[in-house]
Amino acid sequence: MTALSPTPDTVPGTIAYIGFGGNLGDARLAVLAALDAVASLPQVAELARSSLYGSSPVDAGGADYVNAVASIRTGRSAAGLLQALQTIEADAGRERPYRNAPRTLDLDILLFGDTPINTERLQVPHPRMYERAFVLVPLAEIAPQLVSELQLESVRGQYIWRL
Ligand code: ATP
Ligand code: CA
Ligand code: CA
Repeated sequence: MTALSPTPDTVPGTIAYIGFGGNLGDARLAVLAALDAVASLPQVAELARSSLYGSSPVDAGGADYVNAVASIRTGRSAAGLLQALQTIEADAGRERPYRNAPRTLDLDILLFGDTPINTERLQVPHPRMYERAFVLVPLAEIAPQLVSELQLESVRGQYIWRL
């Protein structure tokens, strides 16, 4: 008998939200490929993905960004998920010459279940997510219950547009 492939509702685990961004090279292609790469990870089932957005750099120079947010259900630990995301970043040629440098691909864990995480390598909720329109706008698209009107209002000065 052939096993049915798992549907999101039948995969046990934690619901997590991941932020995708890039502004070096073909960022739209990099973000689309990364969305597929995350969805294909072992022990990960994609639940939803936002549209692609363009955004102006915040606290940084360089080209406009391409951004997206996806929700997954995963049997991985948060640390195990971060490790997998960093491998996908490395495969996309991610380099870190200085803070907020232009990047081919950036994958951040925005939320991981309900319990905050505060280790040296991982802080969740992502400490800067509520300051960023490029996180809140795509997050509100796929999970409107997680973003308040007040939070959206507080980032309204940042340029972001749907691609
Ligand atoms: P920012 O964190 O402000 O978005 P960044 O994404 O450019 O900046 P990176 O150079 O990609 O920063 O990451 C630096 C380190 O941040 C990573 O090596 C990782 O250990 C740590 N980190 C802490 N919390 C998180 C998180 N929630 N998601 C991803 N990385 C995190
Ligand atoms: Ca980031
Ligand atoms: Ca990052």
